[in-house]
Order: sequence, then C-alpha cells, then structure tokens
Amino acid sequence: MSNCNNGNIPKTKISVAIDGPSGAGKSTVARLAAKKLGFLYVDTGAMYRALTLEALKNGVDLYDEQRMTKLAQKSKITLDPDENNFLRVFVNGEDVTDKIRQPEVSRSVSYTARLPKVREYMVSQQRLMAKHGRIVMEGRDIGTVVLPNAEVKVFLTASQPTRARRRQRQLANENVYVNLEQLNQEIATRDYLDSSRITAPLVPAQDAKVIDSSSLSVEQVVELIVKKVKLYGKQSFR
Ligand code: C5P
Repeated sequence: MSNCNNGNIPKTKISVAIDGPSGAGKSTVARLAAKKLGFLYVDTGAMYRALTLEALKNGVDLYDEQRMTKLAQKSKITLDPDENNFLRVFVNGEDVTDKIRQPEVSRSVSYTARLPKVREYMVSQQRLMAKHGRIVMEGRDIGTVVLPNAEVKVFLTASQPTRARRRQRQLANENVYVNLEQLNQEIATRDYLDSSRITAPLVPAQDAKVIDSSSLSVEQVVELIVKKVKLYGKQSFR
C-alpha cells in the first residue's frame, strides 16, 4: 500500500507555505506547484489587496484599525481559481482581479497589512482555508504565523533588480504599465514596511528552505517544491 497516487503525489494532509518579498515570483511558482500537486492555491496578498481596495473605495482611513477591522469582517473576499489556477478575486461578489493590482493599491497595501487586528482576522480566514491541508499558500507570514506546522516551507527570494523586472513583466501581462525606477522604489519601500513591522514581519521561518530564484527558472523552482512535497509524503509513510 502507498500513500502516493500514480504521480507520486502524497495523499496525506500536506500544507506548503511559500513566503518571500514582493516580486520574488511567489505567485507564479505557488500557482504552478499547486496545479502540479492537485492542491488548492491561496494568494494571501490578494486578500490584503482586496481589503485595501475596499477601504480606498469607501474612504476608510488605512490607519484606523477599528474601522479597517470592521471592514475586513464585513467584506466577503473570495478567491476563485480557473482551470490553470489563475485566481479571480471577488469582494462582495464584485470581480476586483484587475483593480487590486493598480499602483494605488500596491502603494497602500502595506499600511493595511500592518494592523494587528486586521491580520488576526485574515489569519483566521486563511487557517480555515487550510484546515484540510493539500494547499499551497503564499504570502509573507505563512510559515511563521498562519501555518507554523506546514510540512513544507519555502522562503523565495531574488535580487531586487530581478524582482523589479519580474514585477514589471507580470504587471504588463495584466495591462498595467509602470516604469522600472518607480517599481524599484515601490518594492524597496514595501520590503522595508513588511520586514520592519511589529506584527508578523517578513522573515524566513527557521525551518524554511531559502531559495534564491535570481538565476533559476520558474520550472526549476516549481520542481524543487514538488520534489520536497513528494519526499515528505514518502517519509511520513515510513
Ligand atoms: O504578495 P503581494 O505583493 O500581492 O502582497 C501585497 C502586500 O500584502 C504585501 O506587500 C504585504 O504588505 C501584504 N501581505 C502580508 N501578509 C501576507 C501577504 C501579503 O502582509 N501573508
């Protein structure tokens, strides 16, 4: 008897946590790894972005923790994957997939993400999504806070110029055009805010495998993650 199906994908309850700074390629890698494994893919950054968009739309002050938390609790944020695991993001039934990538949201989202009570609520939602395992969840605090017992943890990074170029390409694919210098600055600011905040700062979990993807292809990184999951599946059955 085996705990793996024909493709050697473990059937046991495995969660994969992928963290790292913006533009490191987390979304692409997480989406493709989840597809290969047949796991659910969750982009937690999209949840913080969706809430930020809703706050900007309703004129809610991003520094007002109480109002922001209330807004989080009453906004129904859902992530709906298509057949290639691209997520469509909805807030209260409205498709906001494109809007959450707009520069104004990118510039503001780290302020939303600094609020401890907002994070508490988001984390509770994310844990609910992960309760059955078989999930690839990516963000900034997945391996450290959201799923500290995740079986596979990866901290994905890349040099800053590489990340800025990748972000520019990704945005262009989404019909959002931003110049490289501006992106470099935004990424540096966001890295600083995400790494220096008091609640759930961006740091690698102690037991995370740190992968610098600067000179690796997307396929190579995906393969590394899929291998780790399969290896875990084999070990856990022994
Ligand atoms: O991943 P993405 O760049 O879309 O995330 C947007 C922002 O959301 C991050 O810069 C960070 O401030 C916040 N975030 C977070 N914790 C997560 C995911 C995202 O604080 N788990």
